[in-house]
Amino acid sequence: MSVRDVASFVAGEWVAPDTGARPIESAITGEVIARAGQAELDAQAMLTHARDLGGPALRAMSFHDRARMLKALAQHLDTHKQALYDLSFDTGATQKDHLIDIDGGIGTMFVFASKGRRELPDGTVYADGAVEQLSRHGTFMGQHICTSLPGVAVHINAFNFPVWGMLEKLAPTLLAGVPAIVKPATATCYVTEAAVRLMLDSGLLPPGALQLVCGGLGDMLDHLTCQDVVSFTGSAATALKLRQTPAIVQNSVRFVAEQDSLNASILGPDVQPGSEEFALFLKEVTREMTTKAGQKCTAIRRILVPEGQVQAVITGLSDALAKITIGDPRAESTRMGALVSAAQKRDVLERAALIATEATRVFGDPDHFTVEGADKDKGAFVPPMLFHCADPDTATHVHDTEAFGPVSTVMGYRDAAHAAALANRGQGSLVASLITADAQIAREITLAIAAYHGRVYINNASSMKESTGHGSPLPHMVHGGPGRAGGGEELGGIRAVKHYMQRTAIQGSPEILSAITGTWIPGGREITGPAHPFTRGFGELAIGETLHTAPRVVTSEDVEKFAHFTGDTFYAHMDDEAAARNPFFPGRVAHGYLLLSFAAGLFVQPDEGPVLANTGLDSLRFMKPVVPGDSIKVRLTVKAKTPRNDDYGEVRWHVTLTNQDGDLVAEYELLTMNAF
Ligand code: NDP
Repeated sequence: MSVRDVASFVAGEWVAPDTGARPIESAITGEVIARAGQAELDAQAMLTHARDLGGPALRAMSFHDRARMLKALAQHLDTHKQALYDLSFDTGATQKDHLIDIDGGIGTMFVFASKGRRELPDGTVYADGAVEQLSRHGTFMGQHICTSLPGVAVHINAFNFPVWGMLEKLAPTLLAGVPAIVKPATATCYVTEAAVRLMLDSGLLPPGALQLVCGGLGDMLDHLTCQDVVSFTGSAATALKLRQTPAIVQNSVRFVAEQDSLNASILGPDVQPGSEEFALFLKEVTREMTTKAGQKCTAIRRILVPEGQVQAVITGLSDALAKITIGDPRAESTRMGALVSAAQKRDVLERAALIATEATRVFGDPDHFTVEGADKDKGAFVPPMLFHCADPDTATHVHDTEAFGPVSTVMGYRDAAHAAALANRGQGSLVASLITADAQIAREITLAIAAYHGRVYINNASSMKESTGHGSPLPHMVHGGPGRAGGGEELGGIRAVKHYMQRTAIQGSPEILSAITGTWIPGGREITGPAHPFTRGFGELAIGETLHTAPRVVTSEDVEKFAHFTGDTFYAHMDDEAAARNPFFPGRVAHGYLLLSFAAGLFVQPDEGPVLANTGLDSLRFMKPVVPGDSIKVRLTVKAKTPRNDDYGEVRWHVTLTNQDGDLVAEYELLTMNAF
């Protein structure tokens, strides 16, 4: 069998492995199938290439340009994913595992592409949060903004997800406008290399946006600056070593770590054998123990159950695990493949032996199990192993030893507080799950464990059909955990993008802030357009373009008519004396919705034109009551514009209603969809 040369992509060139190459084995046969690595990596050239070429090219694109690029990349990978599936079997993964790694990675990219278009502006500056009023008359204000770091993101990834592990970091990085150097774990880097080749060959990425190191990273970390980011996934020991690199410490380089995690799953005290929740619990635990042969950072390592249910859970899990066919991952009948390598198998068995010093193995014998269609002794196969720890309070290894394979320990708890205390013994985990139908128990346990966990997953019969699974980090939700889990945070929607940007507090006049953010801020410069703004296309409208309407008097007949027409005869609009008893009103007042309707009547231009639809209204506030006889007028200003496609985009208008004294009566943001 030929040995595959896995190359690195260094400063725009593919560099083959050389005398510094490391051998890579098949997880199924133990044979050397590939080699990767260079004796000397030109790390400086890679960093310079990324900073000088990739960064400027990405930063010249808007968030929407980058989001469109991500979507096209995800589509390209999706079209060619069979090639990635074919390669991935040698990592020990089954087709079901590929769906998590390869399809999961591509799906994550699609989500960031979509969120980038929906939640970020079509510019390069992200306004983070609302404008802060720093002065009495509104001439001096504050706004937080996020801008792209001009450095490079170094992604050091774990062996267990060669595709998802890369894409879940790459998508937010590119969306932030930052180039990436990806260093996959050597054991499975041939799959990552194939995915990187697909992305580079697509021609969708600007030069310098993506480079790859297969093998050692050389002295790259020694050359990082305060504008660079390291995002690491792997063991706590490696994380500890790398985060102490002098350049990283001296330059305060952001170091995001996602490392070991002793995740727990808790069977609620309310759940009885025979119930839907009990079956759900067994299913989730079995799945988490055996998917990717337990090589998942989110896998369930500790199974916490009420003391009275320990035996029922062990019996139920043993029955389910007995049905797991172990074997050649290519075979459709195989439910669990191999660990990634013989070295990893040794590691898992050693750690399982450590756990066995405080717990009894109740299922799975690594010396006696069956492997279908592959050589048990040559491949890195292990059976699922279930332990029972009778004294989880005094035990320590079960709470701090991560056997990175299909290994998990059942422990009994006395009550909800004890369950939470045991879950927290993990000293910081990525995720804990709780199966309960009781909302009060869910609240009690969640509040007791949230500070120790990055994610809490609660499931029961009402949500199980649509639930996403204990072990699945979702692009929308944060992934990462405190303490042992590394103290880092990834994903979580647009939060992930901000990890590659600098947040800066900007203070100045509304006009200055508007110019910087590209969003109109109340008090900023108003522009008078050449025609009514409703007659102007999306592309023609300028930020700050403003319409001031004529005033309109609100009469008691108007209020009366509106009340009877809509049925809103609330006393404050109908009964002068009753309204006057209300501390907010001087007497009978106009309906707020009447004012909004009159406002529309004042600012609308009725002809068919570029305004296609009114799609919403945000942040509505009524500040001052309007009584019959008052008059109102409207100011309508283009606050922000977000293209949706080539035909139309969303216009966000800032609207204020003022009375005859110039007092603010109401304020809101109106959303319309406007044709180009
Ligand atoms: P490592 O920590 O050894 O490796 C993780 C990554 O770091 C790999 O890309 C590795 O590259 C790289 N790396 C290692 N040393 C250096 C270095 N000196 N400089 C730069 N990069 C380096 O973890 P493994 O992948 O070997 O897994 C070991 C254990 O870690 C597992 O058994 C498991 O317990 C834990 N783990 C936890 C995960 C989690 O998310 N909770 C995920 C994966 C692993 P290379 O492969 O080339 O050495």
